[in-house]
Amino acid sequence: MNCEICGSYCEKSHTVKIDETFFEVCEKCKNYGAPVESPPDLREHKSVKKLREEKFVGGNLPLEEISLIAEFGQAIKSSRAKKGFTIKELGQKVFEKESVMHRIELGKIEPSPRVLKKLEEVLGIKLRE
Ligand SMILES: [Zn+2]
Repeated sequence: MNCEICGSYCEKSHTVKIDETFFEVCEKCKNYGAPVESPPDLREHKSVKKLREEKFVGGNLPLEEISLIAEFGQAIKSSRAKKGFTIKELGQKVFEKESVMHRIELGKIEPSPRVLKKLEEVLGIKLRE
């Protein structure tokens, strides 16, 4: 079988429990979870991918899945100027620090998904492709 965590082939699998989910894993990966004595109920069986998706429930999508427009910093800056907000005011509206907002506008950092959503709402612009 192939290990459900690292994907490598292993002769003897181990059943472990991680976050209430059972996994068939190799010798190396069994330390990631708690050992299980009896075979798991297959209905409770979930893939690692599914488990990862569930970890993001609550709106915190991984950043790589969001593709920001190339000029997001410039777009934020010009929309903010049009609305007459200072960086500080905009930061307060999206619950982000002024220094962070400044770096976002310079394109040095990307806004977190939560801030991205708030920015789009507050400024009425689309920042995603
Ligand atoms: Zn493994």
